[in-house]
Amino acid sequence: MSKDHNSPVAADSAPPSNFLRSIIDVDLAAHTYAGRTDAAGLPLPQVITRFPPEPNGYLHIGHAKSICLNFGLARDYQGRAHLRFDDTNPAREDQEYVDTILDSVKWLGFDWTSNGQEHLYHASDYFDRLYEMAEYLITAGHAYIDSQPAEEMAANRGSFSEPGKDSPFRTRAAAESLELFRRMKAGEFADGLHILRARIDMASPNMNLRDPAMYRIRHAHHHRTGDAWCIYPMYDYTHPISDALENITHSICTLEFQDHRPFYDWILERLAEGGYFKKPLPRQYEFARLNLTYVITSKRKLRELVEQHIVDGWDDPRMPTIVGLRRRGFTPESLQLFCERSGVTKSDSWIDIGTLDGCLREDLDPKAPRATAVLRPLKLVIDNFPAGEVIACQAPVHPHLPERGNRDFPISDTLWIEQEDFMEVPTKGYFRLFPGNKVRLRYGFVVECTGCDKDADGNVITVHCNYFADSKSGTEGSANYKVKGNIHWVSAAHALQAEVRLYDRLFTDAQPDAGGKDFKLALNPNAKEVVAAWVEPGLAAAQADDKYQFERHGYFVADRHDSQPGHLVFNRITTLKDSWGK
Ligand code: ATP
Ligand code: MG
Repeated sequence: MSKDHNSPVAADSAPPSNFLRSIIDVDLAAHTYAGRTDAAGLPLPQVITRFPPEPNGYLHIGHAKSICLNFGLARDYQGRAHLRFDDTNPAREDQEYVDTILDSVKWLGFDWTSNGQEHLYHASDYFDRLYEMAEYLITAGHAYIDSQPAEEMAANRGSFSEPGKDSPFRTRAAAESLELFRRMKAGEFADGLHILRARIDMASPNMNLRDPAMYRIRHAHHHRTGDAWCIYPMYDYTHPISDALENITHSICTLEFQDHRPFYDWILERLAEGGYFKKPLPRQYEFARLNLTYVITSKRKLRELVEQHIVDGWDDPRMPTIVGLRRRGFTPESLQLFCERSGVTKSDSWIDIGTLDGCLREDLDPKAPRATAVLRPLKLVIDNFPAGEVIACQAPVHPHLPERGNRDFPISDTLWIEQEDFMEVPTKGYFRLFPGNKVRLRYGFVVECTGCDKDADGNVITVHCNYFADSKSGTEGSANYKVKGNIHWVSAAHALQAEVRLYDRLFTDAQPDAGGKDFKLALNPNAKEVVAAWVEPGLAAAQADDKYQFERHGYFVADRHDSQPGHLVFNRITTLKDSWGK
């Protein structure tokens, strides 16, 4: 890990306030979490948050939001943030996902090391403690083993309008429940035969308090604990205990967990009574999940896109996964900016995808060197250019940062220009090449178009022009030429061929899966277009992940998988302006 801090990337201005910051400010003023020490007697920070992914898929832009929020609060309040794998569901979890999650959090610019201590945890490391506390809760009369068949249990749970019915096993003696629980652990029963439930209130208006399940039997192999367990704790039981064991202060989650909060508090209160935890206890706070237009963020649906080969894997540049966004060319800084700018609220809303692109442009504009690429090439021959001659031209690496110097590229008698920069019969207001018109070849000479050659089908294959030798950019004579059009070009003999992948949004519907719609009906068939382009010779040195602004075209990155010297592949990250739908 690069730096001994939860986040090496500090915000350069005070972050905007939000309701979570207000809560923390109140807690700090009230000393709610002051004076606590850890097991070794060392002082604990007053703000400890956690990001708790389940290792059952790849992280996406919504998770990035949660990571930036949790790690960002820890950073700004001199606290710390834990990365905890919520790995209590053996069937769906895998080491592949653990590895990509670790990698994605680091790449986003965050770090779970604080004061030289790693704060990387696994809920599965708490299995012994969770079990011990469950035994205590049984003994104290707060939990019982229910042996109703699953259908009966579901039917007896009632509905929003009807209270539930007590299970006939609800009055089972603690000693009997304890014995059954031990036998469940010992592997004596098949999956689903018994279940451990909290004894709360079957008539509660909150369904989550109608004797929620705490442990279930699952004869399944776990990616970390192997076959040591055949009973596994439920998320709602595990989460508050994991938080308390880690001394978490502010346990931040998305709004769908609001109704789970009473059980979160109930568990911790009962265990505090039993002497397992000291007050103050962690508290849960809910915020609205990130919804981004033209994007889906359900792990299940993203998996469908991968498994049905609708995209080329989890890191396809059209995917909203962190690995996909990274390959597309998004920077950690642009994603952090986006997460901050999209705000933290308590009610659901949709953020426009244009905001994300805007953050990318804002981050890359000052950083990205400029380069020339001709994406849809058309040959331009300068008929009066001295045969065989090559003249050096220069352009700034960055137009607003002269200290970054110039880049060199040569001009010769045959160039590539964009097809759209020539019209045999110009439309009104067209200032680029047409017979009789003059344009400036950007950073080069002024040329006058003289005509074109066509193939048998009438397609223009070559454009002809003459140049003015005294018009070179940067020379005294150039000021004498006043032209309206300014086009980019590369010298045919010097340019490098590159594969350019023009990516666009994956869906044509702003809310592709809202209201149960079939998101696969809204796929954008033009989300990926591959063109054979010509780029300026300096790009021979482009390394994987290098980002450029291709003048007039947008921001591009050398693809981290496929681009190599001699076989350049660039991905379009985004266009220069938001031009969608226009
Ligand atoms: P699953 O359906 O598998 O539970 P999940 O998206 O909830 O998917 P988790 O691994 O449980 O995945 O999520 C880890 C954390 O990320 C949780 O705290 C969750 O609230 C948060 N999170 C997930 N999606 C979003 C989102 N769109 N916006 C903000 N936070 C999110
Ligand atoms: Mg979840």
